[in-house]
Amino acid sequence: MAANLLQNAEYRCAAHLPHQLPPDQGLEVAFSGRSNAGKSSALNALCQRSGLARTSKTPGRTQQLVFFQVAEDRHLVDLPGYGYAEVPLHLRVHWQEFIDGYFQSRKALTGLVVVMDSRHPLKDFDRHMMGYAFTRGLNCHALLTKADKLSRSDQAQTLAAVKRELAGRASVQLFSASARQGVDEARAIVTGWLGLTPKGPYRAPSPE
Ligand code: GDP
Repeated sequence: MAANLLQNAEYRCAAHLPHQLPPDQGLEVAFSGRSNAGKSSALNALCQRSGLARTSKTPGRTQQLVFFQVAEDRHLVDLPGYGYAEVPLHLRVHWQEFIDGYFQSRKALTGLVVVMDSRHPLKDFDRHMMGYAFTRGLNCHALLTKADKLSRSDQAQTLAAVKRELAGRASVQLFSASARQGVDEARAIVTGWLGLTPKGPYRAPSPE
C-alpha cells in the first residue's frame, strides 16, 4: 500500500485576522463545507488521524482558519463551516472580508475542496465558496460525503447531477469516511495539488 503523505499532519495555527496567517509561502489546500457536512471526518480520514480536525471545533476556533502542516511549507486549511443564522452580524461581516481577502491574495493557495453532504449538495454556501475558486482559477474538487447513506443508484445519480451542474469546472467524487469510500482518490487529488506526488493524472482503481 502506498504511504499516506498526509499522515504527518499536525495542527499549526489558527487565524482570525489576516496578520495571524502563517507566512504566504509553499502550497496549501483549503477545505470548506457547511457545518455537519462531514468536513472534520473527511480531514481525519485523509490524514488517518482520528482527532486531528477536532482541533478546528474547539470553542473559539469555529470562526477561524485552522492550518494543519503536512510537510514543510505544505498545509491543509480548514475554513469555518458556519451556518449564517448562528453567527452575529458583525462576525459575518468580519468573516466575509477576511475570507474575501484570503482568496484574493493568498499566493500559497492552490486548490479548494468543497465538502458537501451527498444528500444535499451545492447549497448557496457551497456555490459561494466555489465562486472564489473559479474567479481565481484555482483547482476545485467537490467531495460528496456520507455516500454510505445513499443507495448505489442514488450515488450514481447524484454524482452525475453534480458533474453536470459543475460542467468540468471542478472534479467531483463520492466519499464516505465511515465506509472508507473514495479516500485514496481524494488523497491523491490533495497530495497532487500540494506537489507531494509526481505529476500525472490520478487513475482510480478499477471496480471489483
Ligand atoms: P463537520 O461539521 O462538517 O466537520 O462534520 P463532521 O465530520 O463532524 O460530521 C457531522 C456528522 O456526520 C457526524 O455525526 C459524523 O459522524 C457524520 N458523518 C461524517 N462523515 C460521515 C460518513 O461518511 N458517513 C456517515 N454515515 N456519517 C458521517
